[in-house]
Amino acid sequence: MIFEQLEVGWYRTFAYLIADEAAGKAALVDPSAELERVAFEVSRRFLKLEYVFNTHSHTDHTGGNTYFKKFGAKVVAHESAPTHPDLTVRHGDILKVGAISVSVLHTPGHRFDSICLIAGGNLYTGDTLYLGSCGRTDLPGGDSAAMHHTLMTIIRPLPDGLEVMPGHNYATVSHRALGEEKRLNPALAPRSLQEFRAFVAAP
Ligand SMILES: [Zn+2]
Repeated sequence: MIFEQLEVGWYRTFAYLIADEAAGKAALVDPSAELERVAFEVSRRFLKLEYVFNTHSHTDHTGGNTYFKKFGAKVVAHESAPTHPDLTVRHGDILKVGAISVSVLHTPGHRFDSICLIAGGNLYTGDTLYLGSCGRTDLPGGDSAAMHHTLMTIIRPLPDGLEVMPGHNYATVSHRALGEEKRLNPALAPRSLQEFRAFVAAP
């Protein structure tokens, strides 16, 4: 099984390769830039690209959609995404990449169509959760109350052993266990909604 992290583009976005080499099947999460380099990681292993997951509909995450559709990949996004994906998913859905199960969590807050994915012990968080912080809630489609609900009731209850794979390389390490994030990340500290709103509004 392959779980690879690739930093791409000006926004230090992380693209991710998820693949079952034995089955010859692959998926990408958020391939948005340096598309030839990302494609080479698939083609050099002779994998068939089945899915391109968008963790949400911001262009620094969806920039590879058109390019990778040419490889026959289906673009997968939450059912509320305005980007006309080939396949829409909702909370609790599971897609298969060979023998790898990819579970979908709907995690609105940074954007209404934000999803997180669990696959192979990894938690792909897009712009919902970074290492040491969370995504902005003040952009169009963002909602601090939804982010509070997502972090407290969806992300915090997940197992500590999951490895957080964020949407951008904004920290000193590129991935970290969720248990560590619960301990270190102020965005995941238990707070009331009122306290959380003050926290995200603080400069
Ligand atoms: Zn975003």
